[in-house]
Amino acid sequence: MSFTEEKNKVEKSVLYLVATPIGNLADITERALKVLSEVDFVAAEDTRNSGLLLSRLGLKKPMVSYHDHNRAERGPEIIERLKNGESCALISDAGMPAISDPGEDLVALCASEGIKVSIIPGACAAVSALALSGLSTRRFSFEGFLPAAGKERKKRLTDIAREERTLIVYEAPHRLKKTLSEFAEYFGGERRIALCRELTKLNEEILRFTIAGAIEYYESTEPRGEYVLVIDGAPEATEEEESLDIASRAAALMAGGMSQKDAIKTIVKETGLPKNKVYAEVLKNNE
Ligand code: SAM
Repeated sequence: MSFTEEKNKVEKSVLYLVATPIGNLADITERALKVLSEVDFVAAEDTRNSGLLLSRLGLKKPMVSYHDHNRAERGPEIIERLKNGESCALISDAGMPAISDPGEDLVALCASEGIKVSIIPGACAAVSALALSGLSTRRFSFEGFLPAAGKERKKRLTDIAREERTLIVYEAPHRLKKTLSEFAEYFGGERRIALCRELTKLNEEILRFTIAGAIEYYESTEPRGEYVLVIDGAPEATEEEESLDIASRAAALMAGGMSQKDAIKTIVKETGLPKNKVYAEVLKNNE
């Protein structure tokens, strides 16, 4: 038996994370088909959608639903079945399971229970969009869906505004215009953005603009379909900006009653900057 055949045997008591297409059925892999046809059962976020997918692939399998609202009870049930020797494939509605999809918790549970998890890689909307974006792919920050509203959303936008790595955000079409106007507010209108739409489908489209340009475009075009937004990271802070930031953060912390020593510790933790640099900056501004 070759290494490939050996590796491709479906084993007992293993959770397989099986990537499925993000819109083009032909993107299913040979291994995905093999594993899906051989496992004892399939766990899926939406058994109706996934049942449809399986039937289009010519497969019929016992399924269990595993989603945000039942994962607390369903997770341990799946673990029990795995421990009893069954094999399970976890799939999501589209793309890579456990990435902005339920599954993260199930993988963590398997890890803590010593159950083997194996990957059948394939389509992932985030990585596909990043590769197509034309923006820097060397370092990136996957943000998934931003919090829907309120303080949490504001905080996340404030945090990522300073992120220097390329940003990847999932967004629904009916929220796109609002999100773009918030990007302009928090990041400025000049940053480049690639709107990657309907990837792998008939109407696949990559629109490359500045944030301000995208806002203008969508004044006369209704957003349709699925989107991944890829945005340039923040420009690297200059020494001067960094020093100003440290000074004002230290002043704010100390005005709130924190000692200089604790303020330095906090800033080191928040920024990841070397302690001696933060120390020198704080001292310089408190002389
Ligand atoms: N786990 C999947 C992955 O990472 O490939 C993503 C699941 S998440 C629930 C669904 C989001 O992924 C959509 O709202 C959209 O932002 C993005 N997406 C999925 N398929 C897409 C496609 N064909 N084109 C563009 N974006 C897509």
